[in-house]
Amino acid sequence: MTTPAAEVVLEAEGLTKHFPVRKRGRAALSREVRVVHAVDDVDLRLLRGQVTSLVGESGSGKSTVARLLAQLYPRTSGDIRLHGEPTPLATARGGRRFRAYCRRVQLIFQDPFASLNPVHNVEYHLTRALRIHGRAGQGKEQLRAALANLLDRVQLTPADRYLSKYPHELSGGQRQRVAIARALAADPEALLADEPVSMLDVSIRLGVLNLLRDLKERLNLAILYITHDIASARYFADTVLVMYAGRMVEGGDSETVTQRPAHPYTRLLVESAPDPDRLTSEAGSLGEAGGAGEAGTAGGVGGAGAPVPGGEPPSLISPPAGCRFHPRCPFVMDKCRTELPPRLQVGDTGEHWAACWLFEGVAA
Ligand code: SF4
Repeated sequence: MTTPAAEVVLEAEGLTKHFPVRKRGRAALSREVRVVHAVDDVDLRLLRGQVTSLVGESGSGKSTVARLLAQLYPRTSGDIRLHGEPTPLATARGGRRFRAYCRRVQLIFQDPFASLNPVHNVEYHLTRALRIHGRAGQGKEQLRAALANLLDRVQLTPADRYLSKYPHELSGGQRQRVAIARALAADPEALLADEPVSMLDVSIRLGVLNLLRDLKERLNLAILYITHDIASARYFADTVLVMYAGRMVEGGDSETVTQRPAHPYTRLLVESAPDPDRLTSEAGSLGEAGGAGEAGTAGGVGGAGAPVPGGEPPSLISPPAGCRFHPRCPFVMDKCRTELPPRLQVGDTGEHWAACWLFEGVAA
């Protein structure tokens, strides 16, 4: 018996965002138009009842992807489809179409303190969200029940203890739970969580991640979990996508990508994450795949003793030609400097891929 394919809630294809660079001084006289290549040609799909994690270091473009999906930024090119229905390149913020989209796709920000207005209490924040999305009910009793229900969903009970509190009276974890409750007030289908635990104490991160997992299961939400911490992606996500310098470089189910990373950049992330369960021997087995490729480096990608790449991410105003990782890659070949690697299959499952020339012809 085959399991039915999960329903695609939100998908992006060829998603691209270039920010123009403001000219100063003499440069203002030049006709040259310079842009920051924040996001280039990103494809992703969020499935109902599943968590997709977007992993990468600061400046890799992952938060820009979340804002593009939330329609907070107009995209330069590419498509965004909600249940297969295309969305326009730019949507007027605050318009009817934008509000209808927001009802179904909600964004949770990294800093729960900045995302809540300090002069209003929890009741105000949640009531406002319920009213905006037409879910406040009729009369005080229904509103009270809706507020209690929201706080119950994020495990802030009894509701009466929290409704009158102001953001400064709550802990970081409680503030993030209020921000999540506010997002749930819209009854969304997709939740875009932009580093939702990175500003919280380590001791309470797990509680918030467990809450998001519980919501995914109970409400069948499609969740995009953005993080720079690949270990938390392994714990929480079903699928992991890795971004580097504005481009996707690897993707697959979370266990495979985090335990047997293929792309040299993912390997860098995994090597730098504290993960006591890491099976280094499994990661080493990837060397066999890489060794069969053009590189022919001893051990290939991830082989025992393979060098871990260092260095800095490139400028996104003039990103490197070919593979953007090539200035840092210990396996760089001539081709990497000029030709952009496509998504190439890794292994034989068909779901694990890497944009790296080392895997050209390997899966076949
Ligand atoms: Fe390294 Fe080349 Fe692969 Fe890029 S395409 S990660 S430079 S081997």
